[in-house]
Amino acid sequence: MSLREKVVQLADLLLASNKTVVLTGAGISTESGIPDFRSPGGLWSKVDPMYAFSAETFIYRPAAFYEAGLPHLNTIMSAQPNRAHEVLAGLEKAGLLACVITQNVDNLHQKAGSVRVLEVHGHLRSATCMKCGSKITWDYLLDKVFAGQIPPRCSDCQGVYKPDCVFFGDSLTADFEVAIRETADSDLMLVVGSSLEVAPVNHLPMMAKELAIVNVGPTAADHKAGLLINHKAGETMDLLWNELLKRGAVKQEA
Ligand code: NAD
Repeated sequence: MSLREKVVQLADLLLASNKTVVLTGAGISTESGIPDFRSPGGLWSKVDPMYAFSAETFIYRPAAFYEAGLPHLNTIMSAQPNRAHEVLAGLEKAGLLACVITQNVDNLHQKAGSVRVLEVHGHLRSATCMKCGSKITWDYLLDKVFAGQIPPRCSDCQGVYKPDCVFFGDSLTADFEVAIRETADSDLMLVVGSSLEVAPVNHLPMMAKELAIVNVGPTAADHKAGLLINHKAGETMDLLWNELLKRGAVKQEA
């Protein structure tokens, strides 16, 4: 089946569904210049995220996270949403999408205009002192890091600041409970840009009544998907938007 035929099928699924949720991962943001973990040339080929981004390492050697993450922090913060983020925001505005469940910490769904975003792995908008619990903004944290304070420390108690994102081994955010309810209550889940290798988020597609996946490489849930589109998210979502426009299901903008 051609890409266009698959997109027509995706539009059919979306329009037949009473409630659709989307699950996104790092792959949706590669076209915005942020490397994912598992693509060739992704972060995994440069650092071992299971070491540098693990909760245990952060406690015993917090500098490992800041050293490995430093080259990427500016890239992430200055990145702009791409066509796939824009189309998802447009679908929500058109009443065709209940929420975006994202594993990403890059804020790009919000920058694109999505309103209901469940950040199951947290975000990079703030950091918390591991000793006294005080919070600082991400900009203040970066000021400290780029001034050479690695790891950055609390001015009051000298505790180390941990970003408010989920590390390997941490519990997920409270948004994950909401994501479970939203998935259970939906007719269709669309996955965009995730290998679905990371647990427990990868249990969500297993709960979906109907599953469609847009991902360049293979995922751990390909066997369960009724529709599998192995293509880039930006072009696929743009084709979807044009198909929905043709059918009068959405308006011009987005
Ligand atoms: P992953 O790296 O395991 O998988 C990404 C998947 O996206 C791959 O299977 C790849 O084939 C696919 N992909 C890459 N570019 C694509 C494109 N343009 N269109 C469609 N598919 C594309 O990522 P994951 O499943 O999200 O799991 C990694 C964990 O690390 C998650 O928690 C993730 O959020 C986090 N992470 C986040 C960011 C970010 O916030 N942008 C970046 C790196 C890692």
